[in-house]
Amino acid sequence: MLLEVDDLSVTYRTGNDTVRAVRGVSFTLDAGETLAMAGESGSGKSTVALSLLRLLPASAIVTGTVRFEDENLVEANWARMRAVRWAGASVVFQGAMSALNPVRNIGEQIREPILLHERVGERAASARTAELLDAVGVASRRAGSYPHELSGGQRQRVMIAMAMACRPNLIIADEPTTALDVIVQAQILTLLTDLVRDTRIGMIMISHDLSVLAETCDRMAVMYAGHVVEIGPSHQLIGEPKHPYTQALSGAFPRIGDPSSRLAPAGLPGDPPDLRQTIEGCPFAPRCAVSFAECRSHDIGLWSAGAHRESACLRVLPEFADRPALPHEPAIEAAS
Ligand code: ATP
Ligand code: MG
Repeated sequence: MLLEVDDLSVTYRTGNDTVRAVRGVSFTLDAGETLAMAGESGSGKSTVALSLLRLLPASAIVTGTVRFEDENLVEANWARMRAVRWAGASVVFQGAMSALNPVRNIGEQIREPILLHERVGERAASARTAELLDAVGVASRRAGSYPHELSGGQRQRVMIAMAMACRPNLIIADEPTTALDVIVQAQILTLLTDLVRDTRIGMIMISHDLSVLAETCDRMAVMYAGHVVEIGPSHQLIGEPKHPYTQALSGAFPRIGDPSSRLAPAGLPGDPPDLRQTIEGCPFAPRCAVSFAECRSHDIGLWSAGAHRESACLRVLPEFADRPALPHEPAIEAAS
């Protein structure tokens, strides 16, 4: 097992508020496997991604375990974390312009981690830089170019080359293509997926766009209000969703690059719950058209829902499967 996340919770402290952004998330990832994380804005996707490599601000309190290559990163010291961040696992964020250094050419920026972490000489580092640029589809003669001389798509490719520089075993891509146009998005996603397949590394890909995720990832986890509410093979999960939230999401199956899908992906009435509050029972119950009384009180866990599939809906348990839904009520607006 490459990565084993168990009961991960993250709380942000801001002023007088505590925001429980991630609430008991568990999942695993094998080498060579790709896992998608979906869910509407604010569901906790980036918080999970950042917490894996301890990239969260100091205001965040993390509990649970993140076992990566048999080491619990939640307890690792900072020297270990620095090493893991380059050589073990790396992150590709959206918005390459802000992540690249504007006054240094891209060749230098790719070479730097190689020199630092691979203990090779200048010549070998330059050769590897050229190889990486070729692999991501940027001509290696562009190594002397500065970020502003490249297109958005090329900059995102350079970010991917940097993430691959020290041959990590895990890549975490948080909305790596959101800022790009549709055609370039598809190219970059194909590139990432091919790199992952060819090198047998693991990947976690975050997006609010289900169609992007279904095309690129073997398995998918759907997040809602800090919980994973459903997990399983991507195509099954979208084709035959078990959780009412996934059903609503996939019912509004957005097209690649459709920005209107972002804030209210399913066109659902109501808002997600206020993450400053304790949530009793299922966090989706107030918006769920098929909920019943116990949904508001019963502890929610991920239950088996067929081969390789789990859902956090009480209806997957035999005793609740046929429970009639309470009369449909208007969605409850979260306090703000
Ligand atoms: P998006 O699709 O918009 O990127 P997301 O699923 O990645 O959303 P997160 O960024 O993980 O969501 O945020 C989860 C929750 O944590 C949100 O309610 C957000 O407001 C809150 N949050 C995120 N970062 C902080 C922070 N630094 N301080 C306080 N609250 C935060
Ligand atoms: Mg995010």
